[in-house]
Amino acid sequence: MTITLDDARALDRDDSLGRFRDEFLIGDDPVAYLDGNSLGRPPLRTLARVEDLMRREWGGRLIRGWEDGWLELPEQVGDRLAAASLGAAPGQTVVAESTSVNIFKLLHAACDLRPGRDEIVATDTDFPTDRYLVESVAAARGMTVRWLSPDLVVGVEPEDVRAALSERTAFVLLSHVDYRSGALADLPTITALAHDAGALAVWDLCHSAGAVPLALDADGVDLAVGCTYKYLNGGPGAPAFLYVAERHIGAVRQPITGWWGVADRFAMGPTYEPAPSIRVMLSGTAYVPGLVAVDASAEVVAEAGLEAIRAKSVALTSLCVELADAWLEPHGFRVASPRDPARRGSHITVRGPGARAVADAMTQARVIPDYRNPDMIRLGLSPLTTSYAELWTALDVTRRIVEER
Ligand SMILES: *Cc1c(COP(=O)(O)O)cnc(C)c1O
Repeated sequence: MTITLDDARALDRDDSLGRFRDEFLIGDDPVAYLDGNSLGRPPLRTLARVEDLMRREWGGRLIRGWEDGWLELPEQVGDRLAAASLGAAPGQTVVAESTSVNIFKLLHAACDLRPGRDEIVATDTDFPTDRYLVESVAAARGMTVRWLSPDLVVGVEPEDVRAALSERTAFVLLSHVDYRSGALADLPTITALAHDAGALAVWDLCHSAGAVPLALDADGVDLAVGCTYKYLNGGPGAPAFLYVAERHIGAVRQPITGWWGVADRFAMGPTYEPAPSIRVMLSGTAYVPGLVAVDASAEVVAEAGLEAIRAKSVALTSLCVELADAWLEPHGFRVASPRDPARRGSHITVRGPGARAVADAMTQARVIPDYRNPDMIRLGLSPLTTSYAELWTALDVTRRIVEER
């Protein structure tokens, strides 16, 4: 027997993270929001921090704000985010630009760190921006791409990566969590395999940061990137993060050689002198409101703790699978995410006939899912804001929609 709404409400009462919902701006519309994996909800303290920035720091201090502390924000917010969610010591992370721009920087940096190697290993199922950038960097650098085509539900497996690696591989670029099915890659094993071949491991953490605990330092990751507006709740278009392992700082170079990446910005020197720190990855003037928003949301994640967040994520995705099996499967919608919680991130994908129309009907009923072509409805469960009752209600509404069709 599947659980009732009362059971779901009881789970909410016992939820140790339940109080964090009060940290967010949550109204009556929508009735259920299952798209926090694309855009997280706004933390209340972000509203307060951004308003304070606008009124007191920008309005009150004007240009003096840069000297008061804005200049250091990309590294400072990077360090705080790294401590809260990346398992990375200070001095290796900056928050700046978009994920796409940071991927461009890191892929060129990876080529330069492995001169003489002319192959890239990546997946042809990755998020479009990752694939497009692999192609453009490969073309610019005269490299060949060894494309892997992992199974949707299983995701990329260490054996597939091992088979593609050779002494020609410069780097492997992979997404930690598959944006389609939520399949979680074995990051430590694949990173070690890349190193055995003398290659670098570059990880896209867009769908894991803030939902899956990470240990970038302990796992020996070389370079990583990820966005802050999904499970990290930094807000639409919030600046992304970029990580370079300490052992590469000093040697690492990047292609957008702007004045924010030099050793002494205000020397205004005749030539580009790269900073001997993670600052070398910066390019131009930081967008301060975005950094302040990321800082505030990283603070909420730090207070909740990634272990507790992961535990709730596993409980939510497990309940989602149970309800989808019971209520949607009889109507031709099957779960296309790993059944073992240890092998998935924080969203569950269901596929079935007329998925586009079903997703539209859900949105009409003010239950917001996420839809991806050709037939995938993604149910994103954001542990700090998704309640068990909200999940139950969303699946109940979806059940009625597929029953009527
Ligand atoms: C969301 C996402 C992106 C987004 O890149 P932007 O530059 O922020 O638009 C990139 N890669 C992956 C894997 C994603 O999930």
